[in-house]
Amino acid sequence: KKITIAIDGFSSTGKSTLAKQLAKELEYVYVDTGAMYRAVAYFAMQHSLISADFFKKDALIEGLSDIRLEFRFNSDLGFAEMFLNDENVEKQIRTIEVSNFVSKVAAVSEVRAKLVEQQQEMGTNKAIVMDGRDIGTVVFPNAELKIFMTASAETRAQRRFDELQQKGDNVTYEEVLKNVMDRDYMDTHREDSPLVIADDAIEIDNSYLNKEEQFAAVLELVND
Ligand code: C5P
Repeated sequence: KKITIAIDGFSSTGKSTLAKQLAKELEYVYVDTGAMYRAVAYFAMQHSLISADFFKKDALIEGLSDIRLEFRFNSDLGFAEMFLNDENVEKQIRTIEVSNFVSKVAAVSEVRAKLVEQQQEMGTNKAIVMDGRDIGTVVFPNAELKIFMTASAETRAQRRFDELQQKGDNVTYEEVLKNVMDRDYMDTHREDSPLVIADDAIEIDNSYLNKEEQFAAVLELVND
């Protein structure tokens, strides 16, 4: 049985949907590492450390010790919500503004070091499903199962667009597609822990798989 499950891949490939489903089925802890990077980006926005025109990277690095991230399980929702210094920021971190800044924040080595350490602590001696960009390569290089999810940028943008629209976010498909492509570029080109597929990861292209097919395929791998 696989105890540590790492799910990596590009943005909006349905990683979190799959990871949540798996964690529920297996009764494992689920950790959405993207939420942690998003919370740091939100912190930077709140403190005017980042905007479309500037990024006060050194000030953010200095402020890192003031950032306390915590997942608190919400039994009504059935998943954990992100708390930044005791404030529930689950809604705030999913906006297009945060999505536009998060990859810049995630490129800062000091940010990554802090979050990776916390992620490793969360997964120690626990059955866990963790999703992100560097879980199989950096956070848990010894994970028993590594999945790498891909899908075309257009498929991913359409999914993300539908989600944001449902939430009432006033955003265009073009804007979302640009965000998806920009993040792909930044995530694969940053110096520290760029998004790469681990040698021993199993790649799933879900452009043509529905949620059920994908879930069944991965469950088989878990029980293999
Ligand atoms: O998974 P999600 O799309 O919410 O992640 C948001 C951003 O956080 C990614 O585009 C990436 O820049 C960053 N990230 C990361 N490493 C992780 C998880 C997320 O760099 N493990």
